[in-house]
Amino acid sequence: MKIAILGCGVAGLSAALELRRNGVEVTLFDKSRGVGGRMSTRYAGAWEFDHGAQYFTVQDPDFRAEIEAAIDAGIVSRWNAKALYLKTGSLTADTGRDRYVGQPRMNSLPKYWAEGLDVHLGRRVTCARRTDSWSLKFENGPAVSGFDGVISTLPPAQAEVILPTGFSKLAAVTSAQMHVCFCLMVGLSAPINPGWDTLRVKDLPIDWIAINNAKPGRSQDVGTILVHSESGWSDQHVDADRDWVQDVMLKSASALLGLPLQNAPHIALHRWLYASNKTSPETPCLKGDGFVVAGDWCLGGRVQGAWLSGRAAARTFL
Ligand SMILES: Cc1cc2nc3c(=O)[nH]c(=O)nc-3n(C[C@H](O)[C@H](O)[C@H](O)COP(=O)(O)OP(=O)(O)OC[C@H]3O[C@@H](n4cnc5c(N)ncnc54)[C@H](O)[C@@H]3O)c2cc1C
Repeated sequence: MKIAILGCGVAGLSAALELRRNGVEVTLFDKSRGVGGRMSTRYAGAWEFDHGAQYFTVQDPDFRAEIEAAIDAGIVSRWNAKALYLKTGSLTADTGRDRYVGQPRMNSLPKYWAEGLDVHLGRRVTCARRTDSWSLKFENGPAVSGFDGVISTLPPAQAEVILPTGFSKLAAVTSAQMHVCFCLMVGLSAPINPGWDTLRVKDLPIDWIAINNAKPGRSQDVGTILVHSESGWSDQHVDADRDWVQDVMLKSASALLGLPLQNAPHIALHRWLYASNKTSPETPCLKGDGFVVAGDWCLGGRVQGAWLSGRAAARTFL
C-alpha cells in the first residue's frame, strides 16, 4: 500500500510513523521549507524563537511512551517553568500538568520524527483526485500519482480547498474554525530573568509571555522573549496594520515586564492565521472514501491531539 500524507506537522508525522511501523510506504508533502508545522522555531541571526507551540502536555499513555522515547534520545525535556497567571491584578501560580519542550528547540522533535521518512518540502498541494489511483497536483512542479490513499493534516480552511469532489465529511471540515494568533518575538543582547518563565494574562490584547531563553537547552548568550496575542483580539484585528499590532503588543508586554522592549535589538511579528481551535468536530479524524482528514483541529487543538489524530487517520488504512 502507498499512502500520501499532506502536511509534515505533528499529525502528518504521527500518521507516517504509524503507517511505516506497519509496513506501508508513505510519502509526505508540505508547502513549507521545513518540517514541524506549528511546532516550529524561527531563526533570526543570534536568536531562536519557538514561535508556535510553546510546550506540550502528555496525558495519553501511548503519547507518553512516544515522548519518553524522545526524552531518552535527548530530544525532549521536561520544562520546570516558573509559571504565573495574572488576573484582575492578582498574581497566582499557573498550575497544570507537567510541561515538555523539544530541545534545543521546539522543532527538534518533528525533525527527529521525520528522520528517514520520504519528505517533500516546498510542495503546496492544490488538488487531490482519484481515478485508478489517487493523484496530487501542486502549485509548482509535476503532479504525482499512484497512491492508494491520502491523509490530509492541513488546517480546515486549507484542507477544504484541496478536498476531492464529493468528500462525504465536507460539512464537518467547513464548519471547523480556528483562531488567529499574532506572535511577537523580541531578541535581547543578554538572557533575561524577570522572576518567572511564563506569564499568562487575562483581559489584555496579549495573553501570554514566555522567556524562551529559560527553556532547557536554549542559548544563554542572548535573551529571547515570546509574546502571544489573545485569540478574540487577534480574530478582531486579523487584517489590522502590522506595525500597529506590533506596537500594541510591545506596549502591553513592556508594561508587564517593566522593560522598554521597543529598544530591543531584534523585534519581529508573525501572524498565525490558523493557530488554535474555535470550533472542532471533536473526532479523531474524518474518513471519506480513500481520503482521510486529520489534524489537531479534529481533536483538542494541541500537540497531543495532533499526534492522536494523525495516528487515528493512519489506522483507518491498516
Ligand atoms: C502560537 C501557537 C501557540 C501554541 N501553543 C501550544 C502549546 O503551548 N501547547 C500545545 O500543545 N499546542 C500549542 N499550539 C498548537 C500546536 O502547535 C498544534 O496543535 C500542532 O502543532 C498542530 O499540528 P498539526 O500537524 O495538526 O498541524 P500543523 O502543524 O499546522 O501542520 C499542518 C502542515 O500542513 C502544511 N500545509 C498547509 N497547507 C498545505 C498545502 N496546501 N500543501 C502542503 N502542505 C500544506 C503546513 O505547512 C503545516 O506544516 C500552539 C500553536 C500556535 C500557532
